[in-house]
Amino acid sequence: MARYHIETYGCTANRGESRAIERRLRDGGHYPADGPADADVAILNTCTVVEKTEQNMLRRAEELQDETGDLVVTGCMALAQGGAFADAGVDAQVVHWDGVPEAAMNGECPTTTPDAEPILDGVIGILPIARGCMSDCSYCITKRATGKIDSPPVEENVEKARALVHAGAKELRITGQDTGVYGWDDGERKLHVLLDRICDIDGDFRVRVGMANPKGVHGIREELADVFAENEKLYNFLHAPVQSGSNDVLGDMRRQHQVGEFLDVVETFDDRLDEWTLSTDFIVGFPTETDDDHEASMDLLRRIRPEKINVTRFSKRPGTDAADLKGLGGTVKKERSKAMSELKREVVGEVHESMVGDEREVLAVRPGTGDSVKCRDGAYRQVIVRNADEHGIEPGDRFEVSITAHETMYVFGRPV
Ligand code: SF4
Repeated sequence: MARYHIETYGCTANRGESRAIERRLRDGGHYPADGPADADVAILNTCTVVEKTEQNMLRRAEELQDETGDLVVTGCMALAQGGAFADAGVDAQVVHWDGVPEAAMNGECPTTTPDAEPILDGVIGILPIARGCMSDCSYCITKRATGKIDSPPVEENVEKARALVHAGAKELRITGQDTGVYGWDDGERKLHVLLDRICDIDGDFRVRVGMANPKGVHGIREELADVFAENEKLYNFLHAPVQSGSNDVLGDMRRQHQVGEFLDVVETFDDRLDEWTLSTDFIVGFPTETDDDHEASMDLLRRIRPEKINVTRFSKRPGTDAADLKGLGGTVKKERSKAMSELKREVVGEVHESMVGDEREVLAVRPGTGDSVKCRDGAYRQVIVRNADEHGIEPGDRFEVSITAHETMYVFGRPV
């Protein structure tokens, strides 16, 4: 029996991996320590989205090694650039997520099944439905860590969802590297089938679908939009990262989709749903991106006006094909990133401003800063409600609010 300390960085998929690791450790009779200094083993679940993150990961690994002595490193950076830890003088076991419990337990196997008990983060249940993707993007090193899509059967995921709901989840987050290709390895894409089944589970909860690449969604866009239209439990929210408005750049990125396919998805959802949130991502300053390509991305953003936009300045990832391309100068990347970020603020700010004065139902999902609570409306827009204690509101409650004001990234609501 060991005391462990686990730290997780990056996306919700990574947090889901950490929960699975913890579940297996606890099933094996191990328990969390109060901090790294009290632990027998420290586990660092890493992320490697940008260069700065890598430096932070290496620094944190050194600190944890000093504090705990026995260190296990996993996650995307560990698996794609495992050698970086040894190069930095960190003496750690570097393993795949699946190998962490064994590594942390010095070769002892967990004694019970890993899926015995659902684990919640407050009222949020995180459900990774599959690992991996069907793409091979030229700039990505995550792929090396995760490999091809590996989809458990629908029934298995439904049972995990049911367990989370029975344990008190009010918001289920369906995660994965690319949820749109769930089931591909089994011969057909089944995200819509899975969502329909999950929505059939008895209980008062909502479901948020995590990142789905446009190519994967394109082939099932009609079925998927129908499932959204027919199921109140689904937040009307789709995260489909387009990454560029130029087909040439998408080709160089090996993104599989073209701009037209992304637009087909958006138009299908526009046709079926009265109100929904499109979340999309753009990479700015890809090595082959010309001024015209950048303008094409800006035009696409102006045309589709997504409610949520992530703008990432391109950075080279070691060992990827895109890292071998001659890069753009830092000034060019900075200017393009600034221009797109300004446009993003304008587009998103407009959406939020248009909500002021509306009344809508929200679900409280997390405590906010001070005495506020973070809520989500039916299209997964963030609504902050202040003075939660005074109104007797806590995470898990559903209630009507009037939208009173907005910031760029969220709005404020008052219970009515
Ligand atoms: S879809 Fe592309 S960026 Fe995402 S994990 Fe797969 S290869 Fe990487």
